[in-house]
Amino acid sequence: MLTRPSANSRPKFQVFLAAALVLTAGCARVKTSAADRLRKFIDTIPVVDTHEHQRSYPEYDGHDVHFYTLLNHSYLRFDLYSAGAPVIEQERVIGGDLDSLWKTYGPYLDFTRNTSYYGHFLEGFRVLYGYGEKEFTDEGVKSLSAEIAENYAERESWYAKAFAKAGFETMLVDAYWAPFGADLDPRYFTLVFNVNRLVSGPTRRSLGYPRDASP
Ligand SMILES: [Zn+2]
Repeated sequence: MLTRPSANSRPKFQVFLAAALVLTAGCARVKTSAADRLRKFIDTIPVVDTHEHQRSYPEYDGHDVHFYTLLNHSYLRFDLYSAGAPVIEQERVIGGDLDSLWKTYGPYLDFTRNTSYYGHFLEGFRVLYGYGEKEFTDEGVKSLSAEIAENYAERESWYAKAFAKAGFETMLVDAYWAPFGADLDPRYFTLVFNVNRLVSGPTRRSLGYPRDASP
């Protein structure tokens, strides 16, 4: 219960106030914010991660990888759906008609510019591809798609470059679609032991994830 300070405790209260003012005045002179200091500390940690759902390369076989392939494996697509976008069809992604895909999904990308998933997706392209725009545009997506296809055509060297650019030492992979036989390259990936299956107990058949499942 909160009570008013008694006559006896008032001097102590004033001392506390004076101390608080001195401390606050001291804070005003500090140039770095708490966020800056946290960022500086976090930057010293080699891996800041929970888990990823990175597919192994054969799961991308059969079609080029471009912007919409990555979008279709990103949680950002759920923001698009919330904004009213039709479900992204795998056949259209594989078809790779960028004009038609932009016509359908471009407006919804615009609607989701302020979501955190959009911000993360954009930041990923800034770090890995040097994408300098503040938003995804028709032209930007096309030029990113050309670079993405080029990079994924040389997967070995692209992984090495991407991990160096992003500062990843290892990626913790939760391969929930193949939790018992994930074939991961130990140079890049560390398998997360997913205990959900042990708790929820579905059979592998009942999981029913398609081969190219999305997260
Ligand atoms: Zn997850």
